[in-house]
Amino acid sequence: KIHVFWFRRDLRLEDNAGLHHALKSGRQVLAVFIFDTDILKRFPDPEDRRVDYIRQALVHIDKEMQKYGSALRTFYGNASEVFQKITASYTVDTVFCNRDYEPRALQRDRDIKTLLKSMGTDFRDFKDQVIFEKDEIVKNDGTPYTVFTPYSKKWKDTLKEQHYAGFPLKKEHLMPLKSAGIHRLEDIGFRKTDITFTPPVIDTGTVSAYDKFRDYPAKERTTGLGIALRFGTISIRKCIRLALQYNDTWLDELIWREFFMQILYHFPWVEHRCFKEKYEHIAWRNNEKEFRLWCNGKTGYPIVDAGMRQLNSTGQMHNRVRMITASFLTKHLLIDWRWGEAYFARKLLDYDMAANNGNWQWAAGCGCDAAPYFRIFNPYAQAKKFDRDLHYVRRWYPDFEADLSPPVVEHHYARKRALDTYKKGLGKE
Ligand code: FAD
Repeated sequence: KIHVFWFRRDLRLEDNAGLHHALKSGRQVLAVFIFDTDILKRFPDPEDRRVDYIRQALVHIDKEMQKYGSALRTFYGNASEVFQKITASYTVDTVFCNRDYEPRALQRDRDIKTLLKSMGTDFRDFKDQVIFEKDEIVKNDGTPYTVFTPYSKKWKDTLKEQHYAGFPLKKEHLMPLKSAGIHRLEDIGFRKTDITFTPPVIDTGTVSAYDKFRDYPAKERTTGLGIALRFGTISIRKCIRLALQYNDTWLDELIWREFFMQILYHFPWVEHRCFKEKYEHIAWRNNEKEFRLWCNGKTGYPIVDAGMRQLNSTGQMHNRVRMITASFLTKHLLIDWRWGEAYFARKLLDYDMAANNGNWQWAAGCGCDAAPYFRIFNPYAQAKKFDRDLHYVRRWYPDFEADLSPPVVEHHYARKRALDTYKKGLGKE
């Protein structure tokens, strides 16, 4: 009998909780990855960089495993069918993996567990993606936190060294195998892109000075680890160790990540609904033409347009600019935050349902611990404060001075219209 380890959003050999537990049992472990057709069908762009990134990360894992006389097996298909195939070829004692907290992933895992049980195979999942999960950080009465500051205080008070200690791997228990290669992108309906995967390293200089520079988009002095955390090519425990050593502000950002993850876990309906129910009454204008102008970086507001152009050409956008563009869409254009959220989900390399949803709801004012509805970013003032020399704008929109279209909506007018619409929707008049 063998064990199987199923890689999902934990694409690394180093410090991997589920893999550690599988290997420590002493049985041989077959490591697999499934290009899951149920997931891939939600990626309509054949040149999606994220799929290319995943594939390159898998090639790296396969190469690493070859050093231990083993290899990674990849499959393409629906997860249930793939497991039927695997269990037909091998006698599998247990399938090990790391937990994923998105609603669809939780449902998939329930289904796979039931299927495996019916075939006499166990399914064991582990905490790996976060330091604290589920009910580990809750209020004293057992209910989940919905405000960040007390959540983060409890998080920090609870943290002990054992929570961020790494998981060593007994690699000699990896199943002896010859590499069969990793599915090519063309085999799974995708094409090569311009993204290059390299094993992520944390730049301690950037982390040390994070609080000083993080708000200035032109400086590019955030860590850029978003995609690595999304796909687990880096371990969160390693990030926490460095955050504790070098920078409290960066630690807080990593705690925001867990905060939104536990919100999605406890309130899975936020995927579709405003966390604050009464915000469902806001009469969004949802003008499709204006939405397209926003998507294409043609609103006539340089900082907004530069941000959207960065997103469209690279899949990345600085956090400050994400806040400005999201506020602009929801407040200035009065377009439903769900439209912006879906657009970011298609484009962002580091797209993560919990973080994206939480931050969009924050920007729209309807989320937990959100910006109050009357806080409306002034894109000109934001640009002046955070991109005074226009370095960011010029980088992503070099000919904006010659090219800029007239503002899609005048700022003072838009601000008043947003306030009126929000007040009306929230029954404040
Ligand atoms: P750093 O700035 O170095 O931070 C390290 C890590 O901390 C990030 O990679 C991320 O995992 C976490 N983090 C930082 N800020 C936040 C935050 N506000 N909320 C949750 N986690 C955070 N982040 C995503 O990871 N995925 C998303 O889909 C996403 N969508 C967003 C949408 C909007 C409208 C806004 C305003 C923010 C969004 N963010 C999202 C949060 C934040 O913008 C990115 O995490 C950050 O820009 C990534 O930069 P970085 O990789 O250099 O990470």
